[in-house]
Formats: sequence, structure tokens, C-alpha cells
Amino acid sequence: MDYKKLLLARLDDLKESLSSMKESSKPVDLNDPIGRLSRMDAIQQQQMILNARKQLEVNLQLVDAALERFEKGTYGYCLQCDEEIDQKRLLAKPEAAFCTKCQR
Ligand SMILES: [Zn+2]
Repeated sequence: MDYKKLLLARLDDLKESLSSMKESSKPVDLNDPIGRLSRMDAIQQQQMILNARKQLEVNLQLVDAALERFEKGTYGYCLQCDEEIDQKRLLAKPEAAFCTKCQR
């Protein structure tokens, strides 16, 4: 299995969602009439977008770190116990840094 390919594809995905999100999260102008959305709704929505963006950025860092481990040749091994990470887990989450046991 080519995990590097998976990681790079994931990196592209994340970057794409992040940039499309940046466009849609312009700051709310509170003096501006915002149509049917109440001010509260607009703020809440913006908060949700910010949270989602933070999550994407965290994931991006995880993928970056995984690629780095790939270069070092330590990819696929748990950072905690040095055991090999389960293949099924890597397929579902190629950026995983810990085995299922240590993740808990
Ligand atoms: Zn482990």
C-alpha cells in the first residue's frame, strides 16, 4: 500500500477545504443588515466555521508530521510504543501517529 500517496492526497484535500473555507468565512459586519439571518445566527455560524477550520489545521499538521516520519523511515510505527500500527487503521487514518492501544 502506498501510504505516501494517501497522505499526499489527504494533504491536498485538507488544503482545498481550508482555502474554500477561507472564502466563505468573511468577518460578520455587525452594522450591516444581514437579511433573514439574525446577528446571533451569523455569529454562531461564523464560530462553527472557525472551529471547523481549526480542526482542519490540526489535521493538516498531523498529515505533515506523518509525511515527515515517512522521510525519516519511521512511518507506520507508534510514537508511544514503537509497535507497528495496524494497517486497517492506517488505511482509515493515514496520519495516525499512535497505535489503537496507545490512542486510548
Ligand atoms: Zn502504541
